[in-house]
Amino acid sequence: MKRVFSGFRPTGKQHLGNYLGTIQNCVALQDEYECFYCVVDIHALTTLENTERLQEDIYEMVLDWLAAGIDPQKSVVFVQSHVPEVMELHTLLSMVTPLSWLLRVPTFKEKVKMQPHNVNYGLVGYPVLMTADIALYKGDIVPVGEDQLPHLELAREIVRRFNSLFGFVFPEPQARLTSFPLILGLDGVQKMSKSYDNHIEISASPQVIMERVMTAVTDPARQFRSDAGHPEICNVFRLHKIFTPASADEIASECRSAGIGCVTCKNMLAQNIGSTLEPFRERRAVLSSKPDYIAQVLAQGANRAEFIARKTIREVKEKMRLLRRSNYS
Ligand code: SF4
Repeated sequence: MKRVFSGFRPTGKQHLGNYLGTIQNCVALQDEYECFYCVVDIHALTTLENTERLQEDIYEMVLDWLAAGIDPQKSVVFVQSHVPEVMELHTLLSMVTPLSWLLRVPTFKEKVKMQPHNVNYGLVGYPVLMTADIALYKGDIVPVGEDQLPHLELAREIVRRFNSLFGFVFPEPQARLTSFPLILGLDGVQKMSKSYDNHIEISASPQVIMERVMTAVTDPARQFRSDAGHPEICNVFRLHKIFTPASADEIASECRSAGIGCVTCKNMLAQNIGSTLEPFRERRAVLSSKPDYIAQVLAQGANRAEFIARKTIREVKEKMRLLRRSNYS
């Protein structure tokens, strides 16, 4: 069975963009592949200057994953730093990665602009650590959004270079594009993200969902209730197509003829989001009531991941002739 690897920064409670863009995809992949779902806490340190919330964010994120259908009996769910071999492989792969490859990565340049006071070494090496994440478990497939394709291409180049220098160890990971590559936030402009505060958490109560949806930007040309709307440019309508698919055509036509107002339209959307997520909220409440459940899942995941990681590291060291002295005889 082919192996999928996917890493996620610990961002706490997940939002609709995560759910529609990534989590649903991860759930579906479990039936087709052996999946490794990893909370990449070391990656987070490249931009985090304060780790006070780190453990809480890991907990909330994993709780959302499991409630959304990621099954720890099928998939390996673990935290990156709990399998320290990844740092060893990162160091070894960094020796075969030309610095020029890393300096030309667009996200490195963006990060330098975003945090000029904290241009740390880890930021430059980020793609090497990402490659180590995938290669350590010999991942064949990596689910990605289109914006992450250049990172994956770099990972392929790094493992290709390692294989050509030392002999074959790693498969070249293939991209698998998600079916929802981009979910816009409530501002209708930026990708849905906590950092833009344009998101709806999937664990939010129906009341909070309603409050958040009411803040959504609609068709800017529709100033008055009597104005005809343009659903094709309205993000509320885009969300209706996901959460109210059976009535989307009707909503579009009512919008164009000013037969429906934006408040009513948003109200419907909020109710449909709320009812779609209700089974998720119920499962989340059950899982969170079990003491230490998340810690147990992560410990079991780390054990399964470490078993494979150790074998890979041994293979890499043999190829690189980094054997211990006892192996010389
Ligand atoms: Fe958007 Fe609905 Fe308002 Fe039309 S009626 S502009 S689809 S919110």
